[in-house]
Amino acid sequence: MRALRRFSVRAQLPAALAPLQDLATNLRWTWHGPTQDLFASVDEAAWRASGGDPVRLLGEVSPTRLSELAADAGFVGRVGEIADDLREYLSGPRWYQGREGLPAGVGYFSMEFGVSEVLPNYSGGLGILAGDHLKAASDLGVPLIAVGLLYRSGYFRQSLSLDGWQQETYPALDPQGLPLHLLADSGGAPILVHVAMPEGRVLRARVWVASVGRVPLLLLDADIEDNDADLRSITDRLYGGDAEHRIRQEILVGIGGVRAVRAYCQVTGHAAPEVFHTNEGHAGFLGLERMRELVTSAGLDIDQALAAVRAGTVFTTHTPVPAGIDRFPLGLVQHYFSGDLLPGIETDRVLALGREPDPDMFNMAHMGLRLAQRSNGVSQLHGEVSRGMFSSLWGGFDAPEVPIGSVTNGVHGPTWTAREIAGMTAGAAAAGAGPELFGVSDALLWEMRGTLRSRLVNEVRRRVRASWLERGASEPELGWTERIFDPGVLTIGFARRVPTYKRLTLMLRDPERLKALLLDPERPVQLVIAGKSHPADESGKRLIQQMVHFADDPAVRHRIVFLPDYDMSMARYLYWGCDVWLNNPLRPLEACGTSGMKSALNGGLNLSVRDGWWDELYDGRNGWAIPTADGVDDPDRRDDIEANALYDLLTSQVAPLFYDRGADGVPDRWTALVRHTLATLSPKVQASRMVMDYVNDWYAPAAAAARVVASDGYAGAKELANFRARLDAAWPSVRVAEVDASGAADTPVLGAPMTVRATVDLGGLAATDVLVQAVVGRADDHDELTGTVVEPMTHVGGSGGADRFEATMPLPHAGVLGYTVRVLPANELLASPVELGKVVLPA
Ligand SMILES: *Cc1c(COP(=O)(O)O)cnc(C)c1O
Repeated sequence: MRALRRFSVRAQLPAALAPLQDLATNLRWTWHGPTQDLFASVDEAAWRASGGDPVRLLGEVSPTRLSELAADAGFVGRVGEIADDLREYLSGPRWYQGREGLPAGVGYFSMEFGVSEVLPNYSGGLGILAGDHLKAASDLGVPLIAVGLLYRSGYFRQSLSLDGWQQETYPALDPQGLPLHLLADSGGAPILVHVAMPEGRVLRARVWVASVGRVPLLLLDADIEDNDADLRSITDRLYGGDAEHRIRQEILVGIGGVRAVRAYCQVTGHAAPEVFHTNEGHAGFLGLERMRELVTSAGLDIDQALAAVRAGTVFTTHTPVPAGIDRFPLGLVQHYFSGDLLPGIETDRVLALGREPDPDMFNMAHMGLRLAQRSNGVSQLHGEVSRGMFSSLWGGFDAPEVPIGSVTNGVHGPTWTAREIAGMTAGAAAAGAGPELFGVSDALLWEMRGTLRSRLVNEVRRRVRASWLERGASEPELGWTERIFDPGVLTIGFARRVPTYKRLTLMLRDPERLKALLLDPERPVQLVIAGKSHPADESGKRLIQQMVHFADDPAVRHRIVFLPDYDMSMARYLYWGCDVWLNNPLRPLEACGTSGMKSALNGGLNLSVRDGWWDELYDGRNGWAIPTADGVDDPDRRDDIEANALYDLLTSQVAPLFYDRGADGVPDRWTALVRHTLATLSPKVQASRMVMDYVNDWYAPAAAAARVVASDGYAGAKELANFRARLDAAWPSVRVAEVDASGAADTPVLGAPMTVRATVDLGGLAATDVLVQAVVGRADDHDELTGTVVEPMTHVGGSGGADRFEATMPLPHAGVLGYTVRVLPANELLASPVELGKVVLPA
């Protein structure tokens, strides 16, 4: 008989073991080896059977075993020690504590969170990054409150048909069996968040709380009886469904999410966030709800509320791929926002915030940028690409001036580093091994890499066998799976989602050449490949099928495998065990990429196109850069060129280095690269570095700006709104009337002083309302300026439509120069004079 529904019941632990409950439900165990060891020692077999899930383990271990452990003084002692350690971790001061000027709380909103495979609430890189952000914030003591949705079926599980076609299943999760507890009021009643839907309906959601070390992760769940059936399904799946399904999810996470944060702070006394971080556009409606709060309770008008909200908002954009940007038909947004959803916020104002060049579409990234005073991309190159991509929001400025910065992503070291490596580097550091781990011998490094490679080989065999059983093969046919892969062969990994730009099948461009590499009698390579295609992406599924067909060939199947169901539980084996991590996206479409960072933490060498993070951190000694044919427009030709470059690198550099062994069997030149990677790249790719960057350069200034606009009854917000209104009225009349220069014309020598003068009609604005700048640079044949130097000009007199400004500066270049003058808004409450996208140049 099949059960209609499943539910979990937690075991009653003997009093002596009670702390195990906290150790199991706080997700700190996911990056804390001693806690994992403790759970494994409860019952090795049950631990393995649970897939390393303490909540499941405690539900399944027998009462006899529990009483046995409760009577074991040694075990009880260890439980006590580790529980004390957790308590100390949760309450003691950390990096953040005692620093000045930082926000008392930060809200971090994301559509997905990949904290652990026991809480499968993510699809790929964006979610894992969010999970790593929380863990690093916890380690550093950043008072973050994270907000997302709890999906009944998470993302799909992937398997393969006999013919290599992706199959999707959606196993339902039971929240009772997950490391979560319900947010409840002081009387113990679950708190429900309410959000108005069109036609007078109400959507209700309960709030589950996951404890990620010190950081609470609030997950909203609409699947409750109080909701109409169609509303219950809002939180059924991640990235499934149509635009309507999606906008409902985004309304819930953004607007319901802020309400959940308020409830959480009220119940727990957690400091209210002073800064809200919107991780990608999906959760951007959070800014509208915060505006509503201010309109309803602080008596601000919409413009004042916007000024107040923007000051304390940070927006991070994560993709330059147009298909990755969230957009809705305008009518759909209108439908949802014209009812009771946000009283006091006029629908037209909402629509204007998401306006884009296509008048029928609402763009969540554009709204994110307009609702945040500070925004960033996720690598230096992605910052640059984003400044170009979104430059239409700052018309009149050259792309380099667009106010979108960058914070390069990082990965959580304690989560992704193999224990052997972490132990070795910590030991070496303690022994004063120096910057390049000089105290660690090549032989030890090589042995360590071999251990990790062997572990991966076992995992590959296990998974290939399981996959074939699912594809319909029978046990007796699968003897060969025990002999695939070889712990001594150069192992290359390629695992990531399968959107077209990541080019899963680039390596198949010349199948014979790939085959020759795999089967080389002296210097073979083996390739492990994994990745899910979005269920609606047929072309992605075709790429997977192509890959699977190639790997199914008995001639090569011992050297190349496609492992279905890429997730965190598989990923760690790949990052630990692969010698080389391959990445060949279509440059510059990879915003950052983080899998290569995780490989590097374990001494894997990256072999990658110089895109995302690799563009800034490749140094010639930590791996290889695959040359790209940037600018070649014919995609086939570009793929040919880049695939050839990849084969050439593998044949002429990667494989020879790996197989060039000394008398002791150690490849010294290879281990030198591994050593250099561990010593110099690991520190730079840490999520702790990323979170410190956010705290210092984004959260702290945002908190300061938010305090300034909020103080004195929101006087700053009112002033800023007033300033913007005056600007809007006056701007069309602002005019640069006259410009001339002296000094330089008579003595055109590099470095000579040049004085620029301008007469400006300020259209009724005060001289202090504007920043007038002289801009000097090289002038090309079309008078376009490059290599510009900008000098603020001083107000030297005049009034009534003829204000005079002047600046003196040294000539910055030899050759043909040009200059101009421009007028920008100036107000100390702006993060930069470019922020409002307003500029006047001479006619
Ligand atoms: C790190 C990771 C990703 C993201 O990898 P990219 O290189 O950014 O594509 C996706 N899925 C899993 C399971 C990961 O661990």
